[in-house]
Amino acid sequence: MPNLNISPNLFPNLELRRPIVISGPCSAETETQTIETAKALSALGFKIFRAGIWKPRTRPGAFEGVGKKGLGWLKKVRKETGMKVCIEVASKQHIRQAVEYEIDAVWIGSRTTVNPFVVQEIADELSGTDLTVFVKNPVNPDLDLWIGALERINNVGITKLAAIHRGFSVYGHSRYRNPPQWQIPIELHRQIPNLPILTDPSHICGNRELLREISQEAMDLNFDGLMIESHINPEESWSDSQQQILPLRLKELIDSLVIRNANFENEKNEKLNEYRKQIDYIDSQIIELLKERMNISEIIGKLKQVQNITIFQSGRYDELLESRFKIAVQAGVNPDFIIKLFKSIHEESINKQNELMKKFS
Ligand code: PEP
Ligand code: MN
Repeated sequence: MPNLNISPNLFPNLELRRPIVISGPCSAETETQTIETAKALSALGFKIFRAGIWKPRTRPGAFEGVGKKGLGWLKKVRKETGMKVCIEVASKQHIRQAVEYEIDAVWIGSRTTVNPFVVQEIADELSGTDLTVFVKNPVNPDLDLWIGALERINNVGITKLAAIHRGFSVYGHSRYRNPPQWQIPIELHRQIPNLPILTDPSHICGNRELLREISQEAMDLNFDGLMIESHINPEESWSDSQQQILPLRLKELIDSLVIRNANFENEKNEKLNEYRKQIDYIDSQIIELLKERMNISEIIGKLKQVQNITIFQSGRYDELLESRFKIAVQAGVNPDFIIKLFKSIHEESINKQNELMKKFS
Protein backbone atom coordinates (compact mmCIF):
# COMPACT_ATOMS: atom_id res chain seq x y z
CA MET A 1 0.00 0.00 0.00
CA PRO A 2 1.35 3.47 -0.85
CA ASN A 3 2.15 5.57 2.19
CA LEU A 4 1.72 9.27 1.47
CA ASN A 5 2.36 12.11 3.87
CA ILE A 6 -0.69 14.36 3.43
CA SER A 7 -1.47 17.65 5.23
CA PRO A 8 -4.84 17.74 6.94
CA ASN A 9 -5.66 21.00 5.15
CA LEU A 10 -5.23 21.83 1.46
CA PHE A 11 -5.37 25.57 2.14
CA PRO A 12 -4.35 26.08 5.80
CA ASN A 13 -5.96 29.51 6.24
CA LEU A 14 -9.25 28.55 4.58
CA GLU A 15 -11.99 26.84 6.50
CA LEU A 16 -13.25 24.21 4.09
CA ARG A 17 -16.40 22.14 4.42
CA ARG A 18 -17.54 19.25 2.26
CA PRO A 19 -17.91 19.70 -0.64
CA ILE A 20 -14.75 21.72 -1.28
CA VAL A 21 -15.64 23.59 -4.51
CA ILE A 22 -13.14 24.78 -7.08
CA SER A 23 -14.70 26.74 -9.90
CA GLY A 24 -13.93 29.13 -12.70
CA PRO A 25 -13.69 29.06 -16.47
CA CYS A 26 -12.13 26.32 -18.53
CA SER A 27 -9.82 29.04 -19.87
CA ALA A 28 -8.96 32.58 -18.91
CA GLU A 29 -9.93 34.40 -22.12
CA THR A 30 -9.89 38.12 -21.37
CA GLU A 31 -9.14 40.15 -18.28
CA THR A 32 -12.80 41.16 -17.95
CA GLN A 33 -14.14 37.61 -18.36
CA THR A 34 -11.66 36.28 -15.79
CA ILE A 35 -12.23 38.94 -13.17
CA GLU A 36 -16.00 39.14 -13.63
CA THR A 37 -16.38 35.36 -13.30
CA ALA A 38 -14.24 35.40 -10.15
CA LYS A 39 -16.18 38.28 -8.61
CA ALA A 40 -19.51 36.56 -9.29
CA LEU A 41 -18.24 33.34 -7.71
CA SER A 42 -16.77 35.15 -4.73
CA ALA A 43 -20.03 37.05 -4.13
CA LEU A 44 -21.80 33.66 -3.98
CA GLY A 45 -19.36 32.43 -1.32
CA PHE A 46 -16.96 30.37 -3.43
CA LYS A 47 -13.36 30.53 -2.26
CA ILE A 48 -11.20 28.69 -4.81
CA PHE A 49 -10.92 29.90 -8.40
CA ARG A 50 -9.66 27.92 -11.37
CA ALA A 51 -8.71 29.06 -14.87
CA GLY A 52 -6.65 27.41 -17.60
CA ILE A 53 -3.81 29.62 -18.84
CA TRP A 54 -2.11 27.06 -21.08
CA LYS A 55 -4.64 24.70 -22.64
CA PRO A 56 -3.72 21.22 -23.87
CA ARG A 57 -5.93 20.90 -26.95
CA THR A 58 -6.53 17.70 -28.87
CA ARG A 59 -6.09 19.25 -32.34
CA PRO A 60 -3.83 22.12 -33.40
CA GLY A 61 -5.54 25.34 -34.29
CA ALA A 62 -7.91 25.38 -31.31
CA PHE A 63 -7.56 28.10 -28.66
CA GLU A 64 -4.46 27.16 -26.68
CA GLY A 65 -4.78 29.61 -23.82
CA VAL A 66 -3.70 33.21 -23.31
CA GLY A 67 -0.39 32.23 -21.69
CA LYS A 68 1.60 34.34 -19.29
CA LYS A 69 -0.56 37.48 -19.46
CA GLY A 70 -3.39 35.52 -17.83
CA LEU A 71 -1.24 35.09 -14.74
CA GLY A 72 -1.44 38.83 -14.17
CA TRP A 73 -5.25 38.62 -14.29
CA LEU A 74 -5.22 35.84 -11.71
CA LYS A 75 -2.97 37.85 -9.44
CA LYS A 76 -5.60 40.57 -9.65
CA VAL A 77 -8.39 38.06 -8.85
CA ARG A 78 -6.47 37.02 -5.77
CA LYS A 79 -5.97 40.61 -4.67
CA GLU A 80 -9.49 41.84 -5.38
CA THR A 81 -11.55 38.87 -4.18
CA GLY A 82 -9.26 37.10 -1.71
CA MET A 83 -9.94 33.84 -3.54
CA LYS A 84 -7.25 31.16 -3.84
CA VAL A 85 -6.25 30.81 -7.48
CA CYS A 86 -5.49 27.62 -9.27
CA ILE A 87 -4.07 26.86 -12.77
CA GLU A 88 -3.08 23.85 -14.84
CA VAL A 89 0.64 23.17 -15.25
CA ALA A 90 2.29 20.88 -17.76
CA SER A 91 5.98 21.78 -17.56
CA LYS A 92 8.62 23.07 -15.15
CA GLN A 93 8.45 26.51 -16.80
CA HIS A 94 4.77 26.68 -15.86
CA ILE A 95 5.67 26.02 -12.22
CA ARG A 96 8.29 28.78 -12.23
CA GLN A 97 5.77 31.26 -13.60
CA ALA A 98 3.08 30.11 -11.15
CA VAL A 99 5.45 30.82 -8.27
CA GLU A 100 6.47 34.19 -9.77
CA TYR A 101 2.80 35.26 -9.96
CA GLU A 102 1.90 33.96 -6.48
CA ILE A 103 -0.53 31.32 -7.67
CA ASP A 104 -1.87 29.28 -4.71
CA ALA A 105 -2.46 25.91 -6.31
CA VAL A 106 -1.79 23.99 -9.50
CA TRP A 107 -3.31 20.94 -11.09
CA ILE A 108 -1.58 18.43 -13.31
CA GLY A 109 -3.90 17.69 -16.23
CA SER A 110 -4.89 14.23 -17.38
CA ARG A 111 -2.76 14.41 -20.51
CA THR A 112 0.28 15.17 -18.36
CA THR A 113 -0.31 12.60 -15.59
CA VAL A 114 0.19 9.85 -18.18
CA ASN A 115 3.85 10.84 -18.66
CA PRO A 116 6.16 9.93 -15.75
CA PHE A 117 9.10 11.90 -17.25
CA VAL A 118 7.10 15.13 -17.30
CA VAL A 119 5.51 14.45 -13.91
CA GLN A 120 8.99 13.92 -12.41
CA GLU A 121 10.26 17.14 -14.00
CA ILE A 122 7.28 19.02 -12.55
CA ALA A 123 7.82 17.36 -9.16
CA ASP A 124 11.48 18.42 -9.08
CA GLU A 125 10.48 21.99 -9.83
CA LEU A 126 7.74 21.88 -7.14
CA SER A 127 10.28 20.92 -4.50
CA GLY A 128 10.63 23.72 -1.95
CA THR A 129 7.52 25.61 -3.12
CA ASP A 130 4.44 26.14 -0.99
CA LEU A 131 1.98 25.26 -3.77
CA THR A 132 -1.07 23.07 -3.20
CA VAL A 133 -1.08 20.40 -5.90
CA PHE A 134 -3.96 18.51 -7.50
CA VAL A 135 -3.29 15.50 -9.70
CA LYS A 136 -5.96 14.61 -12.23
CA ASN A 137 -6.34 10.96 -13.17
CA PRO A 138 -4.51 9.91 -16.35
CA VAL A 139 -6.72 9.81 -19.45
CA ASN A 140 -6.48 6.01 -19.46
CA PRO A 141 -7.94 3.97 -16.60
CA ASP A 142 -4.60 3.14 -14.96
CA LEU A 143 -4.75 3.49 -11.18
CA ASP A 144 -1.05 2.76 -10.64
CA LEU A 145 -0.05 5.53 -13.04
CA TRP A 146 -2.25 7.94 -11.07
CA ILE A 147 -0.77 6.78 -7.76
CA GLY A 148 2.74 6.97 -9.25
CA ALA A 149 2.22 10.64 -10.15
CA LEU A 150 0.92 11.39 -6.65
CA GLU A 151 3.94 9.62 -5.15
CA ARG A 152 6.39 11.58 -7.31
CA ILE A 153 4.86 14.87 -6.11
CA ASN A 154 4.69 13.73 -2.49
CA ASN A 155 8.30 12.45 -2.55
CA VAL A 156 9.64 15.98 -3.08
CA GLY A 157 7.86 17.16 0.06
CA ILE A 158 4.54 18.46 -1.32
CA THR A 159 1.97 17.48 1.33
CA LYS A 160 -0.89 19.81 0.38
CA LEU A 161 -1.90 17.24 -2.17
CA ALA A 162 -5.18 15.91 -3.55
CA ALA A 163 -6.46 13.84 -6.46
CA ILE A 164 -9.01 14.99 -9.04
CA HIS A 165 -11.18 12.35 -10.66
CA ARG A 166 -12.21 13.56 -14.15
CA GLY A 167 -13.20 10.31 -15.83
CA PHE A 168 -11.43 8.19 -18.46
CA SER A 169 -11.26 8.36 -22.25
CA VAL A 170 -13.14 5.90 -24.43
CA TYR A 171 -13.26 5.49 -28.15
CA GLY A 172 -16.61 6.14 -29.76
CA HIS A 173 -19.82 7.46 -28.38
CA SER A 174 -20.75 7.25 -24.72
CA ARG A 175 -23.24 8.93 -22.40
CA TYR A 176 -20.32 10.81 -20.90
CA ARG A 177 -17.41 12.66 -22.44
CA ASN A 178 -15.17 10.69 -20.05
CA PRO A 179 -17.01 7.86 -18.24
CA PRO A 180 -16.45 8.07 -14.49
CA GLN A 181 -15.48 4.43 -13.80
CA TRP A 182 -16.12 5.07 -10.09
CA GLN A 183 -14.39 1.84 -9.06
CA ILE A 184 -11.02 3.49 -9.82
CA PRO A 185 -11.26 6.50 -7.47
CA ILE A 186 -12.93 4.21 -4.90
CA GLU A 187 -9.88 1.92 -5.06
CA LEU A 188 -7.60 4.98 -4.84
CA HIS A 189 -9.38 5.93 -1.63
CA ARG A 190 -9.04 2.39 -0.28
CA GLN A 191 -5.30 2.42 -0.94
CA ILE A 192 -4.63 5.99 0.27
CA PRO A 193 -7.44 6.79 2.73
CA ASN A 194 -5.94 10.12 3.89
CA LEU A 195 -5.75 11.58 0.35
CA PRO A 196 -8.54 14.05 -0.48
CA ILE A 197 -10.38 13.24 -3.72
CA LEU A 198 -12.34 15.78 -5.72
CA THR A 199 -14.51 14.90 -8.70
CA ASP A 200 -14.57 17.02 -11.87
CA PRO A 201 -18.12 16.57 -13.20
CA SER A 202 -17.51 19.07 -16.03
CA HIS A 203 -14.94 16.93 -17.83
CA ILE A 204 -16.75 13.68 -16.98
CA CYS A 205 -20.06 14.91 -18.44
CA GLY A 206 -19.00 17.19 -21.27
CA ASN A 207 -22.43 18.83 -20.97
CA ARG A 208 -24.41 20.82 -18.43
CA GLU A 209 -27.33 18.40 -18.09
CA LEU A 210 -25.56 15.61 -16.22
CA LEU A 211 -23.49 17.80 -13.87
CA ARG A 212 -25.83 17.49 -10.91
CA GLU A 213 -26.21 13.73 -11.18
CA ILE A 214 -22.43 13.18 -11.20
CA SER A 215 -21.90 15.71 -8.39
CA GLN A 216 -24.47 13.91 -6.23
CA GLU A 217 -22.86 10.57 -6.96
CA ALA A 218 -19.47 11.94 -5.90
CA MET A 219 -21.00 13.16 -2.64
CA ASP A 220 -22.73 9.83 -2.03
CA LEU A 221 -19.36 8.13 -2.44
CA ASN A 222 -18.07 10.49 0.25
CA PHE A 223 -15.55 12.27 -1.96
CA ASP A 224 -14.27 15.56 -0.62
CA GLY A 225 -15.10 18.07 -3.29
CA LEU A 226 -15.95 19.14 -6.81
CA MET A 227 -14.17 21.03 -9.57
CA ILE A 228 -16.81 22.52 -11.86
CA GLU A 229 -16.25 24.92 -14.74
CA SER A 230 -18.15 28.22 -14.67
CA HIS A 231 -18.19 31.26 -16.92
CA ILE A 232 -20.04 34.58 -17.06
CA ASN A 233 -21.14 33.76 -20.59
CA PRO A 234 -20.92 29.95 -21.02
CA GLU A 235 -22.34 29.75 -24.55
CA GLU A 236 -19.71 32.15 -25.84
CA SER A 237 -16.73 30.56 -24.10
CA TRP A 238 -13.61 29.80 -26.16
CA SER A 239 -13.21 26.22 -24.90
CA ASP A 240 -15.56 23.59 -23.44
CA SER A 241 -18.63 25.77 -24.05
CA GLN A 242 -21.05 22.81 -23.76
CA GLN A 243 -20.19 22.11 -20.14
CA GLN A 244 -19.63 25.48 -18.47
CA ILE A 245 -22.34 27.06 -16.31
CA LEU A 246 -23.15 30.47 -14.90
CA PRO A 247 -21.84 31.10 -11.36
CA LEU A 248 -25.44 31.39 -10.15
CA ARG A 249 -26.32 27.96 -11.64
CA LEU A 250 -23.30 26.56 -9.83
CA LYS A 251 -24.57 27.94 -6.53
CA GLU A 252 -27.99 26.39 -7.19
CA LEU A 253 -26.40 23.06 -8.08
CA ILE A 254 -24.25 22.96 -4.93
CA ASP A 255 -27.19 24.01 -2.73
CA SER A 256 -29.34 21.25 -4.22
CA LEU A 257 -26.91 18.46 -3.32
CA VAL A 258 -27.81 16.12 -0.50
CA ILE A 259 -24.74 15.79 1.70
CA ARG A 260 -25.15 12.55 3.61
CA ASN A 261 -23.28 11.74 6.75
CA ALA A 262 -20.45 9.24 6.36
CA ASN A 263 -19.21 9.19 9.94
CA PHE A 264 -22.45 8.42 11.72
CA GLU A 265 -22.10 7.33 15.31
CA ASN A 266 -22.92 3.67 15.59
CA GLU A 267 -24.73 3.82 18.93
CA LYS A 268 -27.04 6.53 17.63
CA ASN A 269 -28.02 4.41 14.71
CA GLU A 270 -29.76 1.56 16.47
CA LYS A 271 -32.20 1.00 13.65
CA LEU A 272 -29.48 0.62 11.02
CA ASN A 273 -27.45 -1.60 13.35
CA GLU A 274 -30.47 -3.80 14.00
CA TYR A 275 -31.00 -4.36 10.27
CA ARG A 276 -27.29 -4.97 9.78
CA LYS A 277 -27.42 -7.67 12.45
CA GLN A 278 -30.27 -9.32 10.56
CA ILE A 279 -28.25 -9.20 7.34
CA ASP A 280 -25.21 -10.68 9.13
CA TYR A 281 -27.38 -13.53 10.47
CA ILE A 282 -28.95 -14.25 7.07
CA ASP A 283 -25.53 -14.27 5.41
CA SER A 284 -24.19 -16.78 7.92
CA GLN A 285 -27.23 -18.97 7.18
CA ILE A 286 -26.62 -18.70 3.43
CA ILE A 287 -23.04 -19.88 4.00
CA GLU A 288 -24.21 -22.80 6.17
CA LEU A 289 -26.70 -23.83 3.48
CA LEU A 290 -24.05 -23.57 0.78
CA LYS A 291 -21.82 -25.81 2.89
CA GLU A 292 -24.61 -28.40 3.11
CA ARG A 293 -25.17 -28.14 -0.63
CA MET A 294 -21.45 -28.69 -1.29
CA ASN A 295 -21.43 -31.75 0.99
CA ILE A 296 -24.32 -33.30 -0.96
CA SER A 297 -22.62 -32.42 -4.23
CA GLU A 298 -19.55 -34.30 -2.99
CA ILE A 299 -21.66 -37.37 -2.23
CA ILE A 300 -23.12 -37.15 -5.76
CA GLY A 301 -19.57 -36.89 -7.09
CA LYS A 302 -18.64 -40.14 -5.36
CA LEU A 303 -21.76 -41.86 -6.78
CA LYS A 304 -20.90 -40.67 -10.29
CA GLN A 305 -17.43 -42.07 -9.89
CA VAL A 306 -18.66 -45.45 -8.64
CA GLN A 307 -21.36 -45.67 -11.33
CA ASN A 308 -18.93 -44.40 -13.98
CA ILE A 309 -21.07 -41.49 -15.24
CA THR A 310 -19.88 -38.08 -16.40
CA ILE A 311 -19.81 -35.18 -13.97
CA PHE A 312 -21.61 -32.83 -16.28
CA GLN A 313 -24.98 -33.59 -17.83
CA SER A 314 -26.23 -30.62 -19.80
CA GLY A 315 -29.91 -31.68 -19.50
CA ARG A 316 -29.70 -31.54 -15.73
CA TYR A 317 -27.88 -28.17 -15.86
CA ASP A 318 -30.53 -26.59 -18.13
CA GLU A 319 -33.28 -27.96 -15.91
CA LEU A 320 -31.60 -26.58 -12.80
CA LEU A 321 -31.24 -23.08 -14.22
CA GLU A 322 -34.78 -23.10 -15.59
CA SER A 323 -36.33 -24.15 -12.31
CA ARG A 324 -34.28 -21.62 -10.26
CA PHE A 325 -35.34 -18.93 -12.75
CA LYS A 326 -39.02 -19.79 -12.17
CA ILE A 327 -38.63 -19.85 -8.40
CA ALA A 328 -36.92 -16.44 -8.54
CA VAL A 329 -39.75 -14.95 -10.62
CA GLN A 330 -42.34 -16.33 -8.19
CA ALA A 331 -40.40 -15.05 -5.20
CA GLY A 332 -39.97 -11.58 -6.72
CA VAL A 333 -36.17 -11.77 -6.84
CA ASN A 334 -34.35 -10.56 -9.97
CA PRO A 335 -34.09 -13.83 -12.00
CA ASP A 336 -30.98 -12.65 -13.90
CA PHE A 337 -29.19 -12.25 -10.59
CA ILE A 338 -30.32 -15.73 -9.47
CA ILE A 339 -29.07 -17.29 -12.72
CA LYS A 340 -25.69 -15.59 -12.26
CA LEU A 341 -25.54 -16.84 -8.69
CA PHE A 342 -26.47 -20.43 -9.56
CA LYS A 343 -24.05 -20.55 -12.46
CA SER A 344 -21.32 -19.69 -9.98
CA ILE A 345 -22.57 -22.25 -7.40
CA HIS A 346 -22.79 -24.91 -10.10
CA GLU A 347 -19.26 -24.12 -11.29
CA GLU A 348 -17.94 -24.65 -7.76
CA SER A 349 -19.79 -28.00 -7.54
CA ILE A 350 -18.30 -29.16 -10.83
CA ASN A 351 -14.81 -28.14 -9.68
CA LYS A 352 -15.23 -30.12 -6.45
CA GLN A 353 -16.47 -33.20 -8.30
CA ASN A 354 -13.61 -32.90 -10.79
CA GLU A 355 -11.10 -32.97 -7.95
CA LEU A 356 -12.77 -36.16 -6.64
CA MET A 357 -12.73 -37.85 -10.04
CA LYS A 358 -9.04 -37.03 -10.47
CA LYS A 359 -8.26 -38.80 -7.20
CA PHE A 360 -9.81 -42.02 -8.47
CA SER A 361 -8.69 -42.00 -12.09
C1 PEP B 1 -9.29 21.32 -17.60
O1 PEP B 1 -9.47 21.15 -16.39
O2 PEP B 1 -9.69 22.31 -18.23
C2 PEP B 1 -8.67 20.22 -18.37
C3 PEP B 1 -8.05 20.40 -19.51
O3 PEP B 1 -8.85 19.05 -17.77
P1 PEP B 1 -8.39 17.55 -18.11
O4 PEP B 1 -6.91 17.49 -17.86
O5 PEP B 1 -9.18 16.80 -17.11
O6 PEP B 1 -8.79 17.25 -19.53
MN1 MN C 1 -12.11 22.41 -19.71
